[in-house]
Amino acid sequence: MTSAANNANPDRRASAQQVLRDVFRLESFRPGQAEVVDAQMHGRDVLAVAPTGSGKSLSYWVPAILGDGLTIVVSPLIALMKDQVDRLVAHGVHAAFINSTLSSSEQRERLEAASRGEYQLVYVAPERFSRPGFMGRLATLGVKRFIVDEAHCISTWGHDFRPDYRLIGGALEACGRPPIGAFTATATPDVRKDISSNLGLRDPLVVVTGFNRPNLQLETVHARGGRDRLEQLRRRLNPGDGRALVYIGTVKGAENTAAAISRWGFPAAPYHGRLPDVSRRRIQDGFAAKDLRVVVATSAFGMGVDFPDIRQVIHVGYPGSVEAYYQEAGRAGRDGKPALCLLIHSSKDRDLQVYFIETAFPELREVMSVHTAYSRLGVWNADPEELKPLVPEPAWLSLDASRRLLQKAGALRSDGSVGPFDHSLLDFEQLAALKRHAYTKLGQMIDYAQLRTCRHAFITDYFGEVTTERSCRSCDNCERGQGGEVVGAPVDVAVIRAALAGAARFAGRIGMVNLAAILAGKENRFSRDQPWVLHVPAYGSLSGWSQGRLRRLLEELVAAGCLTQSQGQYPMVELTDRGRAVLGGKQAVAVAIEPDLEPASMSSADPALFKRLREWRSEVARRQGVAAFMVFHDRTLNELASRRPADLLQLGAVPGIGPSKLDRYGTALLEILAPIH
Ligand SMILES: [Zn+2]
Repeated sequence: MTSAANNANPDRRASAQQVLRDVFRLESFRPGQAEVVDAQMHGRDVLAVAPTGSGKSLSYWVPAILGDGLTIVVSPLIALMKDQVDRLVAHGVHAAFINSTLSSSEQRERLEAASRGEYQLVYVAPERFSRPGFMGRLATLGVKRFIVDEAHCISTWGHDFRPDYRLIGGALEACGRPPIGAFTATATPDVRKDISSNLGLRDPLVVVTGFNRPNLQLETVHARGGRDRLEQLRRRLNPGDGRALVYIGTVKGAENTAAAISRWGFPAAPYHGRLPDVSRRRIQDGFAAKDLRVVVATSAFGMGVDFPDIRQVIHVGYPGSVEAYYQEAGRAGRDGKPALCLLIHSSKDRDLQVYFIETAFPELREVMSVHTAYSRLGVWNADPEELKPLVPEPAWLSLDASRRLLQKAGALRSDGSVGPFDHSLLDFEQLAALKRHAYTKLGQMIDYAQLRTCRHAFITDYFGEVTTERSCRSCDNCERGQGGEVVGAPVDVAVIRAALAGAARFAGRIGMVNLAAILAGKENRFSRDQPWVLHVPAYGSLSGWSQGRLRRLLEELVAAGCLTQSQGQYPMVELTDRGRAVLGGKQAVAVAIEPDLEPASMSSADPALFKRLREWRSEVARRQGVAAFMVFHDRTLNELASRRPADLLQLGAVPGIGPSKLDRYGTALLEILAPIH
């Protein structure tokens, strides 16, 4: 850099400060921002990674206003584009957007205004670049800076690859290759490399900031089954004077959980991709107005959710990657005040994610069997129910993905007819690589769930933000003392050795579920197919333990570094060096797991109370002329007799008591349950 440029530096920074103050009424840049602004002012390419809500747009707005000429901003988020432009215009900045929401004459007018130099910033949706003539127009605009927002969309390794982003190369060329600013809220080191090479960045300034957020309290808790998940949620959920977001993997889960939360006394609604637009908008508005304090969402809820006072983001089950997790969890505490990011996970979560991966990436033989079935039908736009009997189960699960691939290969034609399928037109190696990558991501997510060390350090390492701190004051592991105190009942060393000996016997050729069954001495398909396993010493060596609890123990041994688990649909467990040392008595390990969750058993239920509840139920059933179980299941009465709810709110939290039953029987039940009896 020349000394002249160095001398210009303070001036430029001063004027950047001035723009910040005069235009945006902000006092100072956030960490990393000034550097990114400065580099752009010097015409250097930049790659900036900063989470949503950390003001990353400001880092390209300021140079666009301060510099001369036009800045093009590519963004795939059409809904947010208008918000951004509105904000800029409200601050007196000359900005406009061009996307499919405009008529072609409006688009033309804006392009003409841009070539007359009337705008400082123009936002463009990437699919515009495929429109005939658009590139030609771009060449006439005299573009001075080119910003690629959501830059991770250019990477096939990113979680949100958009093929349109590959058109950006051509657009850059058309503009005469101005300096590029690539911005994204989420990119791992791999994805950053991909962005850099795909956009052809030249010696870019790379800045990763904003992932380390000490105001977020990071915690995970293991739940034993569905009912325990709900109980853990009930125990922790509290929107305080703000709001709370609950994320869950399935539509049905979102609906059931929202209903339960409403019964607990917090107005809540489910939000998912199957809701009609009008309902979605109503929920967003309700959440904005705080009529709704809690939204229970699948990952569909995200765009434009930017409230500063979200006090909790609770995940019931983990998503498929740490990026997806932290992007959702990071919606908490945007005001900088303390907020909780809690992950309630269980052994079943992995199964759901495996299902998602397996259905998203079909293998060649599955695509071929879908093609064969369509060929037999002769058309491919018929009722899927007609297809179902013709397709084997695994191929049926990934039908949507197979259909997309067949369309891409031209085997399913737009007139509904079915042509020949030439599989050399599809890149199955690439698909297999993407699938392996998805399993790697899932493995990292599981690592986070079971982590024993500082969660904040894990997150900053994951995203490649440079921090020196290896411990914090705002994660469960640091609060417990790293590697120190463990939760639950300590497991006897003899039990640990028996489990490790079982794993050693199968030398990496057995999965966790089957190993748990063998240790428990329970026959299943694995042992029936291979009867010799009934005779290994490990078979039934821990027969006092349930299979679920053994699986939990094996997971803890993975977390403690005694076992490793391979990736893929059917991961195998294998002994590590540490595991061997523990097995041989050369090293010690402390493992604790929660006791089995007993199904609201008689142990805690008051038998006399249970009897009174049954008598009352027979009476009600007789009066109504219905079967007793239609009034309440035994299970529910059991819960009532053990929990002894004292008011309607507590009563509503008991599984099996929905709003209508609460309405109908609530008062009568409370009378029976009252302690005077
Ligand atoms: Zn920590």
